[in-house]
Amino acid sequence: MVFQNPYGSLNPRKTVGATLAEPLAINRRGDRPAREAAARAMMDRVGLRQDQFGRYPHMFSGGQRQRIAIARALMLNPRVVVADEPVLALDVSIQAQVLNLLMDLQEEFRLAYLFISHDLSVVRHIASEVMVMYLGRAVEQGPKASIFAAPRHPYTRALLAATPSVDPAHRRAAVPITGELPSPLNPPPGCAFASRCPYVQPRCTEHRPEPRLLEGHLVACHRAEEID
Ligand code: SF4
Repeated sequence: MVFQNPYGSLNPRKTVGATLAEPLAINRRGDRPAREAAARAMMDRVGLRQDQFGRYPHMFSGGQRQRIAIARALMLNPRVVVADEPVLALDVSIQAQVLNLLMDLQEEFRLAYLFISHDLSVVRHIASEVMVMYLGRAVEQGPKASIFAAPRHPYTRALLAATPSVDPAHRRAAVPITGELPSPLNPPPGCAFASRCPYVQPRCTEHRPEPRLLEGHLVACHRAEEID
């Protein structure tokens, strides 16, 4: 797993080398020299220098810390990495570097990412399959190209309309959303988005819409065909 905040997810008392070797030590992989060699090799792969092996987290920038966190996540050769908003805490200029690193590592290690993000421009850059969630449920799900080209759920459309883009082809008319997110502890009986949806009808508050296939992806909305 790669956590959101690299300022909080690294142990300030451990050097980079110790941080990277720790997963191997816990899982009894190799002896000490082998673990150190593996840690050094992983530093190379994520763009950290060998002379940084004995340094502590506070001696690194945010982007470098996230590289350490990514390296730590890869030490046991996982097939799946859960990345929870991994670039949210970084400057925009650094975000692109870390995203490109993640994509390079994906190819090199043949990884699958479960990439969690609120930033749809980041999702557009990195994802192949997208699941849009609202109040803990999938409201729209499918291939990235299909979701971004033809979003059918009002919440997805609102998210896309709220995402700034320099490309006029990617700009969308705003979808007015009012009100507050309902409590996940006491979800409404019908569509969870009903209290904020500009297209709500009586049936929306009575029956929960189930996901169904529309234009190449799954949508959970009673009115998905009608909304233009
Ligand atoms: S089911 Fe109704 S309330 Fe829910 S998103 Fe669709 S139109 Fe809006």
